[in-house]
Amino acid sequence: MKQILGKIALVTGASAPNGIGRAIALRLAAEGAAVVVTDVAGSFTTEFTTEFTPEFTPETGAASRAELLADLVESIEVQGGTALALTLDVTSENEIEAAISATLERFGGLDILVNNAGSLAGSDSFLATTAAEWQLSFGVNLLGPMMLSQAVIPTMQARGGGRIINIGSTGSLGAEPGFGAYTAMKHGLVGLTKTLAAEFGPDGILCNTVCPGYIATDMHMAANERLSAEQGVSVAETKARRYANVALRNAGLPEDVANAVAYLAGPQANYVTGINLPVTGGVPYGI
Ligand code: NAP
Repeated sequence: MKQILGKIALVTGASAPNGIGRAIALRLAAEGAAVVVTDVAGSFTTEFTTEFTPEFTPETGAASRAELLADLVESIEVQGGTALALTLDVTSENEIEAAISATLERFGGLDILVNNAGSLAGSDSFLATTAAEWQLSFGVNLLGPMMLSQAVIPTMQARGGGRIINIGSTGSLGAEPGFGAYTAMKHGLVGLTKTLAAEFGPDGILCNTVCPGYIATDMHMAANERLSAEQGVSVAETKARRYANVALRNAGLPEDVANAVAYLAGPQANYVTGINLPVTGGVPYGI
């Protein structure tokens, strides 16, 4: 049975071919929601080769995000679902306003917001991180979810409830060296989640964080490649070192995160709010 049939969902940062946002959009659509898939304008280019995304290696060049979103809409429609693609930079108040207006115009409401867009800007040693990188990280990872939540809550209140699902990280729960800005913002996202859960629970709005661990997306592979370059070891060795701490000894898949989001978006989570749900394969969270 489809768990969220007739609901309307919006997912940010959904264009990456191997990203968590795309997997979430496909899963919510499979559960019966109409899904608004969004991402920043411009082109998507992988600057690295991974075994997970051979079709998007540098040799094959860049794809426009609009094309990638159109492809995602098509994939959802082929499944029998409904989707709408919109450009949305989560750091832009104007684009947020326009995207929510377009969503309401097309579907008449919004029930589920997934704040998935994320940025590893400022992932460097703490002393090397610039204020500009810190601000970029703040804009995408924390300010965007705050502004989007403010934009959708009145609609959810008018509909008698809704779900806001923030995609955090193990960086929401602990710290490892070299990810200062990301860790600070992802910790902040947990504070936002708890605030929304407490303040809007009486309106039937549930807000939770999903905290992925190592998930084999391009963002994760970029981090592996950066760490291997910094440490002067092969990517394979970096992966082995990082996954040695994972109880399941491997990275997860975007679909594993999408499963958690589908749970939190659906009726089985009717009495669940304000939590962090780790999808990590079992990792210690660091300090
Ligand atoms: P991804 O493939 O890079 O997807 C993130 C998407 O957000 C990208 O399309 C990215 O575009 C987009 N984005 C960046 N800035 C934006 C903005 N201002 N407005 C709207 N979209 C913007 O990364 P992912 O690995 O799927 O990550 C998805 C979420 O999971 C993120 O919040 C991330 O922090 C979290 N997460 C991932 C992992 C992992 O192992 N992959 C682990 C823990 C948490 P650009 O490519 O242009 O930046």
